[in-house]
Amino acid sequence: MSAVLNAVLMAMQIVIGLFAHSDGLVADGIHTLSDLAADGVVIAVLFLGAAAASGRRAPNSDGGFHASLATLVIGVLLIGTAGEMLWHSIGPATILTVSTSVRASALVVAVFVMFAKEALFRYMRSVAQRTHSGVLLASAWHARLDAVSALVAMMGILGSMAGLPMLDHVAAGVIGLMILRMGYNNCWSALKDLAARPLGNTAGQ
Ligand SMILES: [Zn+2]
Repeated sequence: MSAVLNAVLMAMQIVIGLFAHSDGLVADGIHTLSDLAADGVVIAVLFLGAAAASGRRAPNSDGGFHASLATLVIGVLLIGTAGEMLWHSIGPATILTVSTSVRASALVVAVFVMFAKEALFRYMRSVAQRTHSGVLLASAWHARLDAVSALVAMMGILGSMAGLPMLDHVAAGVIGLMILRMGYNNCWSALKDLAARPLGNTAGQ
C-alpha cells in the first residue's frame, strides 16, 4: 500500500514541482523517492521475517538482525537525501515567473500529499499494532513526519505565491534538516541494536 502510494505521490511532486519551479515540492518529491526505496527494504524485511518464522523460531516478528540492518540502510538513504536537499537550498533562489495556475497546481499537490501521508500513517499504525511489527510502526511514524514535511512544502509554495520566493528555498532547507534528523536517529538506533546483538542474544534485555 505504502509503496504504491509513494510511487504515485513521487511522480506528482516531481513533475508538478519542476513545472511550477517549486524547490520545496521537488525536494519533497526526491524525499518520497527515498521513501519508496525504504518501502522496498521494509517489504524485504517482512518477507525475510516471515520466512524465518515459518522455518524456525525467529527472534521477533521482524527478524531482529535484518530489521536493524534495514533501519541502517534507510537511515543512510535519508542522510544522503537530506544532504542533497540542503545543498540545493543554500544555492541562489531561482527567480522564474510561472503562472498562478501552475503554482496553484503545486499547492494542490502539496495539500494532497499531506492528507495522503496522514491517512497512510493511520493505516500503517493500525496494521503495525495488530501485527506487533516494529518495522511497520517505525514506517508509520515516518509517514506522519512526511505529512509534516508536505505541510512545510505547502507553506513554501504559499510564500512564493505571496511574492516571497525565498520562502520556498527556506521550506526546502527545513525539510532537508528534518530528514537529516530522521536519518541520524535511524542510523543511531540501528547501530545500537547491532552493537548490542552479540552480547544481548540470550538475555531478555
Ligand atoms: Zn519520508
